[in-house]
Amino acid sequence: MKLPVYLDNNATTPMDPRVLEAMLPYFTEHFGNAASRNHAYGWEAEEAVDYAREQVAKLIGAEAKEIIFTSGATEADNLAIKGVFEMYAGKGNHIITCVTEHKAVLDTCHHLEKLGGEITYLPVSNDGLIDLKELEAAIKPETILIAVMYANNEIGVIQSVKEISNIARKHGVLFFTDATQAIGKIPVNVQNDGIDIMAFSGHKLYGPKGVGALYVRRKHPRVRLTAQMDGGGHERGMRSGTLNVPGIVGFGKACELCRLEMEADAKRIKVLRDKLEDALLQIEETYLNGNKELRLPHVSNISFKYVEGEALIMSFSKYMALSTGSACTSASIEPSYVLKALGNSDDMAHASLRFGLGRFTTEEEIDFAIEQITAAVYKLREMSPMWEMFKDGVDMNSIQSTQAS
Ligand SMILES: *Cc1c(COP(=O)(O)O)cnc(C)c1O
Repeated sequence: MKLPVYLDNNATTPMDPRVLEAMLPYFTEHFGNAASRNHAYGWEAEEAVDYAREQVAKLIGAEAKEIIFTSGATEADNLAIKGVFEMYAGKGNHIITCVTEHKAVLDTCHHLEKLGGEITYLPVSNDGLIDLKELEAAIKPETILIAVMYANNEIGVIQSVKEISNIARKHGVLFFTDATQAIGKIPVNVQNDGIDIMAFSGHKLYGPKGVGALYVRRKHPRVRLTAQMDGGGHERGMRSGTLNVPGIVGFGKACELCRLEMEADAKRIKVLRDKLEDALLQIEETYLNGNKELRLPHVSNISFKYVEGEALIMSFSKYMALSTGSACTSASIEPSYVLKALGNSDDMAHASLRFGLGRFTTEEEIDFAIEQITAAVYKLREMSPMWEMFKDGVDMNSIQSTQAS
């Protein structure tokens, strides 16, 4: 077993060796620029990109022409939201999104607010889902886009995408979804799901970093976007810049592997995830974050009350690699805005761990993780005065509220 055990697949996945194999010739022998129309080197590169475009499209039930290659999901999120905002400025300036979106969506929306955009940030209930009635009520004549993620990167909760797209269609509003965590893990089909624009990324599905895609619907309705990168007019004019041919080849291969294997992978990984989750929830005063059913099969987010997530992670960093419900900003450790949006206190958000299992996770690793984490939680609680007070039957709500004030 390789240490530290990697349980942070939501942050990035290791690349599948079969993906690397597919990519290698495109760094050396087949180094051509896919936009070179006058010679075999260019044609070869273009052919490889076309093939990858088919592989990517097939995974999501799209046509190859509807795939725009980007540098990743962050760029795809920016292109989608800013591109719609500019292109549909004549219709309106209102965008509806949700408070638990990835920063690539939230920060893009904040940027548009400075440029005259009006953004509605829908709240979520304590299981992480938006309220569809609230969504529909937020739509007005100026609304040009609904941007709600497919599955959340911290808690794995899957939004009711089909219902959201039905509402969007009914009101003639475009529907964009950041599906970075869902694609390649669960079946996503842009036709069945009624998605108009969708962002995803290579390195979250066992492909390379620095490559991703934006799906842009061509019919019913035909979506148009204002380019955010001007230049040679690559990618149907929506994203100029010489294509990352090896990256795109790898992304395509990774998508094909997911299409063929994700069902079996998900089944196996869910068993391991449930084993881990069940064992950890056996520990006293532990809580699952997010809806238990509407959730990605490889993700679990658990709060261990009276324990600092940071301290937990530090205590086993030699043996395990995973994330807490806190984010390090330049100034301090901030509790996760996603966990806080579910109604968690700062303490509970800080006390959480995010588990992201993956294609290469083994049962041996999960057994090891259960042992390590359980021991660490008991050990840290033994040293915690709060835990001692709790065990002595002190009313912890009164203690915590006086501490906070
Ligand atoms: C990782 C992630 C992104 C950013 O993707 P990059 O390809 O790293 O830019 C965006 N949205 C979600 C939901 C993610 O999980």
